[in-house]
Amino acid sequence: MEEDKSGNSLQTPGIDGKKRNVSYFYEPTIGDYYYGRDHPMKPHRIRMAHSLIEGYGLHKSMQICKPYAATPQDIAKFHSDDYVNFLSSVSPESLSGDHLKRFGVGEDCPVFEGLFEFCQASAGGSIGAAAKLNRGDADIALNWAGGLHHAKKCEASGFCYVNDIVLGILELLKNHERVLYVDIDVHHGDGVEEAFLSTNRVMTVSIHKYGDYFPGTGQVYDIGVHNGKNYALNVPLGDGIDDDSFRGLFRPIIQKVMEVYQPKAVVLQCGADSLSGDRLGCFNLSIKGHADCLRYLRSFNVPLMVLGGGGYTIRNVARCWCYETAVAVGKEPDNNLPEGNKYMEYFGPDNVLHFDISRMENENSPKYLDKLRTILLDRLSDMEHAPSVQFQERPPTTEPPVEEEEDMDER
Ligand SMILES: [Zn+2]
Repeated sequence: MEEDKSGNSLQTPGIDGKKRNVSYFYEPTIGDYYYGRDHPMKPHRIRMAHSLIEGYGLHKSMQICKPYAATPQDIAKFHSDDYVNFLSSVSPESLSGDHLKRFGVGEDCPVFEGLFEFCQASAGGSIGAAAKLNRGDADIALNWAGGLHHAKKCEASGFCYVNDIVLGILELLKNHERVLYVDIDVHHGDGVEEAFLSTNRVMTVSIHKYGDYFPGTGQVYDIGVHNGKNYALNVPLGDGIDDDSFRGLFRPIIQKVMEVYQPKAVVLQCGADSLSGDRLGCFNLSIKGHADCLRYLRSFNVPLMVLGGGGYTIRNVARCWCYETAVAVGKEPDNNLPEGNKYMEYFGPDNVLHFDISRMENENSPKYLDKLRTILLDRLSDMEHAPSVQFQERPPTTEPPVEEEEDMDER
């Protein structure tokens, strides 16, 4: 049995010996939405994950919830009215050149049939998950159709239209003083970071590929502004990061964040494009390495929302989110996929849950990783512990001190 510092393992319910109440949000029509033939984003992967989850019988260990459709008013809690009006009324036929420019739709973010309903289901799941956690009806709430972290207040970006994560966090903030957001998608969680850049009520931590890569933001010295200064944490990496290197950053950084920030709720974006062999990604994580992030956060026993995100080699996305569902409920599924799975043709010829990672170079040198870890841990050590609402209301200092920038180019 694998044991970590917190004493947590898959076979045991957690450090405190308590089982977790898990709610799982799933809209049965989600797999029908279609971005287009050549588009890498395939909502079908969520249905494939669901099919594996059912095949393993994991649904029996969770409360299954059908998300309500988030209303335009719900979505406008973050997004601008004109953007919400556009999303709720546009169709592939009515799309104009002006829309393309104004709202960021077009090639990456196509206007497809049922676009708004898709956004309503994704956002409804994350808002519903937050409401469950707020009521104390669940310890962990999963929404694999959520995690669309690039969407901005007034525009679509990076295959994302409505930022269900920001909406979910806003809901959590009704009941929780401080919320921690952790993002392990290969891309920077820019939309969420930007939404909460100037508040200390949300701390964002994003671990991502940086350098000549979408969306281009998220370097280590981007730390937030005003009251939010130091409450945005970025972990920029090069290609090919493997399980051991990733864990060697993730665990100490998150441990320190939990100790210093003491969040009352945590949101984990589990973008699966950080897996080895992803169609768009460039990291080299195995499913177990990816899921270790969830396993570790789960061990703190703080209300936890778990969301999807990117992930473009869809057979591996389905495998990963199925395995992470098992981690959430505290089960270790057999490596042989359940018989009679509807989507078996995707998982052949070996039909197993855990695939082999590719043989690629890890461009992140031990020296670079050490330096990065030291910078981030030092910064966390210098922070005020568990900022209260009073702290938040304190006026910002007039002149932020100039920070020395070390050269972080060397990997
Ligand atoms: Zn991504």
